[in-house]
Amino acid sequence: QRAALPPVGRCGVCVDPGWASINRGVLICDECCSVHRSLGRHISIVKHLRHSPWPATLLQMVHTLASNGANSIWEHSLLDPAQVQSGRRKANPQDKVHPTKSEFIRAKYQMLAFVHKLPCRDDDGVTAKDLSKQLHSSVRTGNLETCLRLLSLGAQANFFHPEKGTTPLHVAAKAGQILQAELLVVYGADPGAPDVNGRTPIDYARQAAQHELAERLVECQYELTDRLAFYLCGRKPDHKNGHYIIPQMADSLDLSELAKAAKKKLQALSNRLFEELAMDVYDEVDRRENDAGERGWGWLLGVPP
Ligand SMILES: [Zn+2]
Repeated sequence: QRAALPPVGRCGVCVDPGWASINRGVLICDECCSVHRSLGRHISIVKHLRHSPWPATLLQMVHTLASNGANSIWEHSLLDPAQVQSGRRKANPQDKVHPTKSEFIRAKYQMLAFVHKLPCRDDDGVTAKDLSKQLHSSVRTGNLETCLRLLSLGAQANFFHPEKGTTPLHVAAKAGQILQAELLVVYGADPGAPDVNGRTPIDYARQAAQHELAERLVECQYELTDRLAFYLCGRKPDHKNGHYIIPQMADSLDLSELAKAAKKKLQALSNRLFEELAMDVYDEVDRRENDAGERGWGWLLGVPP
């Protein structure tokens, strides 16, 4: 599903935004996108508004954040006249990409220089826990900006509430808050995380008869492997009839010596290295999906790379 967003929610620097930063809830132009990409997907996850395929509710989540002023989360202190007098200012559309716009973007999203800082406490752990508890209760409402603000301040998407025995995604699933679920998953929430009784957010959504949300969470849970499979063989696994990760390979587990050696090496990687490898591959799949969108999808579907 592809849809164009109306020209709302821009940061004021981008004249013609063709891209979205999914985790920041803002729309950006080609120039700014190139800077966002150079910072890496742990800082900004970019997706083309027209050339990329969008799950409907993910697009709706970004749209809602962008039109409700998510940008002001990242520019909070710039809204204060005292800061502007001290010489800090936003980049203008006329400014050069390098160095003016790129330095502004780095300060804004990498250093979080303009995000509202909480008064310091002696024990930072307590603050993070408080923020996560606030997130845990906020996701039952439809207020996405509040949750993005809490996440920007350090609330943990996978926070396990010690008294309630659930994570924020369990709460969002039970309440049928599909856009909150999208936001939490973007910030790393696990749709398969067990609650205190071993039940997952997917179980919660099913029990609350939130079928669309349950299906979407299953899709999210397998997103990385689905996209890798699609990239490798041009087909998506079928989750309704068992999870065949690579459809063509499901019945031919007779690996070559080379494949066995590669598998052994992969299994020997530390979690951190495996995560980095997965992020690199993910970035590359992102790039190819966006490129494919620009050239039309046919070649990718017909001719696996
Ligand atoms: Zn821009």
